[in-house]
Amino acid sequence: TTASANNFIRQIVREDIEAGRCQKVITRFPPEPNGYLHIGHAKAICLNFGLAKEFGGDCHLRFDDTNPTKEEQEFIDAIKHDVEWLGFKWSGDVRHASDYFDQLYAWAIYLIKHGKAYVCDLSADEARAYRGSLHEAGKNSPYRERSIEENLDLLERMKAGEFKEGEKALRAKIDMASPNINMRDPILYRIRHAEHHQTGNKWCIYPSYDFTHGQSDAIEGITHSICTLEFADHQPLYNWFLENLPVPTKPRQYEFARLNLNYTITSKRKLKQLVEEKHVDGWDDPRMSTISGYRRRGFTAAAIRDFCERIGVGRADAVVDMGVLEFCIREDLDANAPRAMCVLKPLKVVITNYPEDKQEILELSRHPKKEELGKRQLPFAREIYIDQGDYDENPPKGYKRLVPNEEVRLRGSYVIRAEKAIKDANGNVVELHCTYDPDTLGKNPEGRKVKGVIHWVPANQSIECEVRLYDRLFKTPNPNKTEQENGSFLENINPDSLVVLKGCRAEPSLANATLEDRFQFEREGYFYLDSKDSKPDSLVFNRTITLRDSWEQ
Ligand code: ATP
Ligand code: MG
Ligand code: MG
Repeated sequence: TTASANNFIRQIVREDIEAGRCQKVITRFPPEPNGYLHIGHAKAICLNFGLAKEFGGDCHLRFDDTNPTKEEQEFIDAIKHDVEWLGFKWSGDVRHASDYFDQLYAWAIYLIKHGKAYVCDLSADEARAYRGSLHEAGKNSPYRERSIEENLDLLERMKAGEFKEGEKALRAKIDMASPNINMRDPILYRIRHAEHHQTGNKWCIYPSYDFTHGQSDAIEGITHSICTLEFADHQPLYNWFLENLPVPTKPRQYEFARLNLNYTITSKRKLKQLVEEKHVDGWDDPRMSTISGYRRRGFTAAAIRDFCERIGVGRADAVVDMGVLEFCIREDLDANAPRAMCVLKPLKVVITNYPEDKQEILELSRHPKKEELGKRQLPFAREIYIDQGDYDENPPKGYKRLVPNEEVRLRGSYVIRAEKAIKDANGNVVELHCTYDPDTLGKNPEGRKVKGVIHWVPANQSIECEVRLYDRLFKTPNPNKTEQENGSFLENINPDSLVVLKGCRAEPSLANATLEDRFQFEREGYFYLDSKDSKPDSLVFNRTITLRDSWEQ
């Protein structure tokens, strides 16, 4: 397929296996538990777990937990749930970089003993000044030539908690003149007097990302360590550790382009800001680009996997159009979601020539193409609801719904004719009197054509519900671009991204809806029960996506 052709990493793995360089592929997905996963992470998940699946290997789930002050158990639980929901299973137990803190510490001592690491007393600001810049070589730290004995003693005392945060750090001794700034004596350990969600108070020094990541890969026997492009500059350092430490295996790092999606943001820091400042209803607000947000909105895991497959994996940064993701969910739901009717803005219709005591049970198919989904029952009676927007006394051109003294078909039911509108003091139509043609159930009327078809529900047996119409959270393609140079992405929030409708009327079969079900409400879009707020006696439906793309220019 085209997707696998443009996945250069798949190609590399295949060649490694064919050439015997790799017996069994082992990948990992290494999130930091400092937030919920977003759609960008889904790309990395599908790639890493997908490779393991395709080539009969393993994929590990490893929490990259070296920043205790920013991490929480809540995030660990949410991440595990999201990965499973996406349809993937990690091999073995969940792993943590913190599982390797003892080994990493032993390796820090190993580097000191080989003259390749030292304890440095420069403050963060001083260290930055010594590091130099892209155009200017760095300068050696005055602490760089400390003896091995002194370094061993100081590291031990750092670990014992003798120093304050920022007072000392352990650094690798590499090359302050390297053109790659990452190689200019990078930090291996920093002091953090903070409790860790996994290791409690055992440590008050924590290894840096760079000192942790590659060695964790090596401990786990990762063969292909796949990360996003911004880590390409770290690769020489990743390899330096593998070359200078007695690691059990030699993983290789490969970089791919991260997913950028327009009309949304995929930065955990900004997603967190949206949550903490209450611009949204939590990490799983249906407008969030988080996996949990898409789930609550009604996206299927299959649609997200399909999206990740379609966009492919490349080496050049690009921005993917939100329409692609929306296309994937629309296509899935169109093929699979049962149809139902729900009137969002009810207008009562009395069918004056329909007997008051009569009621019929109509049968409508659940899906136009999937017969196996069967039929649903829908009572028809003298009083029904149609949508306020489906009756108009001054219709625009091309209006194919109900107008005075004309006919329209009620979906799956009879043809009715508008006879009289009852109005309130302001002239608003509050009720409509119609007549029906008893000869039009399942067949066209004699001698005339009825073009329009509208949806409806019975007045008495329908159920009242709330409907939340969600749209894109941002109104501009690049939410990070603001009018003022130093503006906030918050300015670009779409004020119409949520419209709440109460007093909507759903057909009776929807009373049995569960979180397993997704529906097309005919003529309105695709809908899903809200997992947080919907209750059996007060249903809340979220609009997953409209029937058509309304954003396309
Ligand atoms: P953020 O910058 O938002 O905090 P992160 O990259 O620091 O994101 P991690 O938890 O470290 O978040 O990410 C775990 C994995 O997911 C990493 O391997 C990373 O490369 C990958 N990843 C993160 N964001 C994206 C993205 N937008 N597209 C593809 N992969 C991503
Ligand atoms: Mg991060
Ligand atoms: Mg990261």
